[in-house]
Amino acid sequence: MADETTAVVWDSALLEYDMGDHPLNPVRVELTMALARELGVLDRPGVQMITPRPASEIDLTRVHRADYLDAVRLAPIDPFFTGWGLNTADNPVFEGMHDASARICGATIAAAEAVWNGSARRAVNVSGGLHHALRARAAGFCVYNDPAVAIAWLLEHGAQRIAYIDVDVHHGDGVQAAFFNDPRVLTVSLHETPLALFPGTGFADEIGGPDAEGTAVNVPLPPGTEDAGWLRAFHAVVPSVVRAFAPEIIISQCGADAHRLDPLADLRLSVDGQRAAYVAIRALADEICDGRWVATGGGGYALVEVVPRAWTHLLAVATGEPLDPETRTPKGWRELAAQRCPGSPVPESMSDGVPPVMEHWSPGTTDPVDRAIQATRTAVFPLHGLDPHDPRD
Ligand SMILES: [Zn+2]
Repeated sequence: MADETTAVVWDSALLEYDMGDHPLNPVRVELTMALARELGVLDRPGVQMITPRPASEIDLTRVHRADYLDAVRLAPIDPFFTGWGLNTADNPVFEGMHDASARICGATIAAAEAVWNGSARRAVNVSGGLHHALRARAAGFCVYNDPAVAIAWLLEHGAQRIAYIDVDVHHGDGVQAAFFNDPRVLTVSLHETPLALFPGTGFADEIGGPDAEGTAVNVPLPPGTEDAGWLRAFHAVVPSVVRAFAPEIIISQCGADAHRLDPLADLRLSVDGQRAAYVAIRALADEICDGRWVATGGGGYALVEVVPRAWTHLLAVATGEPLDPETRTPKGWRELAAQRCPGSPVPESMSDGVPPVMEHWSPGTTDPVDRAIQATRTAVFPLHGLDPHDPRD
């Protein structure tokens, strides 16, 4: 029964997306799958493991230019290669880069396909979420944009209305750009303000192109935003616009870099707050689109302390009961983490110790989070027939 099935897309070959001495270290994905496995999350009833194939040229060129694919293939074998955003500090080239990047896209397509054809109700690809890649340019550690490629696959296979929800600390610029003027795709991104953080886009007034006004929604949050403020912003914006848009399926990019320990950004969430975000996205999918939810990973650079716990919570939320935050991390996993990342503190609990609180926002206050909420609602709510000032939603 699809209603009881969650597809988890996995193959250790997905770890080959490895930029070397670089913040995006695939050990975070390896440790995530190990933690989920040791906690029994992958052995739950209804979990269907899927081994993905690399995305095809046809799949990739729905989003990326064919000459860019050629560049990605060529770059690792040409030591003097420049251009296309490649061979830079952010996007170093590596052997097998095209195949590894295409495999991650294939994994997110496999997740989308399982949910779209009804063989699973929900699906997760923790290795995906490379949301910065552009049509003909690598950006922000991302070579090919797997969420965009999967959304394009869904559109090609009959989907009419797709909602993309991006909770990575960075703006989901590549996905927004791919569908900016497409009224069939709603992109919603909560992120640290572009005034302070890469990629420098994601302002409230980026609302979509002339044929799709209101289908890009951006919530730029001030540095230092904690669980309560972040969840307040989520609940003040996301459910209302997603309900109004009435998608058939939700794709979420669940980058874990909004956590307070993340070394690359300045929001201050806990894993408990991140867990609450995943629960909220699942509830939205249950309410609005019969549970159809495809989740990917994304950023996250606290490789041991944050990402494995956040995405194990994500896998648990997608496969059944959320894990009790008080769950201890298994000894075997702690030993593996210490061995793989010597010197890094290894967490003993699945909680950061503080249950997140949820409050309603207040129009007209000077609180910087509430002002950000107000700006986003003013920019897009009227385009969806919603009242930007109603504090009840
Ligand atoms: Zn990020």
